[in-house]
Amino acid sequence: MNAICTTCGVQYAESPNLPDCCRICADERQYIGIDGQKWTTLDELRREYKTSSHAEEQGLTSFWMEPRFAIGQRAFLIETPSGNVLWDCISLLDEPAIEYVRRRGGIDAICISHPHYYTAVVEWSREFGNAPVYLHRDDAEWVMRPAPCIQFWDGEVKNIAGGLRLIRCGGHFAGATVLHWPEASGHKGALLSGDTIQVVPDRRFVSFMWSYPNYVPLPARAVQRIIDAVEPYEFDRIYGAFPKMTVAQNGKDAVRRSAERYLRAIRDGLDTQR
Ligand SMILES: [Zn+2]
Ligand SMILES: [Zn+2]
Repeated sequence: MNAICTTCGVQYAESPNLPDCCRICADERQYIGIDGQKWTTLDELRREYKTSSHAEEQGLTSFWMEPRFAIGQRAFLIETPSGNVLWDCISLLDEPAIEYVRRRGGIDAICISHPHYYTAVVEWSREFGNAPVYLHRDDAEWVMRPAPCIQFWDGEVKNIAGGLRLIRCGGHFAGATVLHWPEASGHKGALLSGDTIQVVPDRRFVSFMWSYPNYVPLPARAVQRIIDAVEPYEFDRIYGAFPKMTVAQNGKDAVRRSAERYLRAIRDGLDTQR
C-alpha cells in the first residue's frame, strides 16, 4: 500500500507495512496529531471525500478537498497557450477532478511550492501521462514517495511553459518557491504563493513564517530575501495556499507593506503606545 498521513496529507512509497511515523509531521514545522499518528489510503479518501473546484479567473481553476482534509490547501490548474501546469497538489485525485482536467487538455507539468504540499503528486502525474514534477533540490530530503516523474531543479529561478516561472524564495523551507504568471489578472500578473508568502485573513496583507501551526517566525534576513526574490517581477494578484485566500489587487504593494510591518513587529513591536 501507499500510506497517506492524515495530518499533512503526504503519500508514502509502496510498502507492506505502515511507516513508524510521518517524517514531515515529526519535523518541528508540523506536528503529530493529538490522537497520535494516523494513516489512510487514496482508496479510503475516495470513499470519504470529494474534490471541489472553482474557476478563479480566465485559465485558472482551484481544487481542494471536501470536507477539509489534513492541511486543507488548494491546488491550481493553470492553462497557457503552450501547455497546462498544476501548481501545488492535494491528497485526493477523484473522477470529477480527472474529468475536469481532461476537458481542459490535461497536465503538461506539475510544480509544488514546498514539501507540505507534495501530497499525492505521483498519482496526479501518473494519471496525466507521467507529467514531470518540478521540485526544488534543496527540499529533496522531504520526498516520501520517490518516482521517475520527479525532476529536481537548482538555483533561484526556473522558467517553465507559457511564460510561467518558479522563483525560489526560501524561508518556510530552504527550497520554498512561488510561481509567477505574467499574463494573469489582465496581464498585470499574479503570484501563486503556497505557504512561502501566506495570504492572511486580512487580505490586504500577507505573512511569512517558518512554522504556521506552531507560530515560529522567520528572522529579518529571511523575510528580506523573500522580498528581494519577487521584487524584479510585476504582479497584481496573489493566490495563497487556502481556498478564498487571494489578494485581489495591488499584490506587490501588499507584499512590501506586509514585510515592513513584519520587520517592525519582530524588531521593536507595533504597539505605538509604549
Ligand atoms: Zn504527515
Ligand atoms: Zn507549509
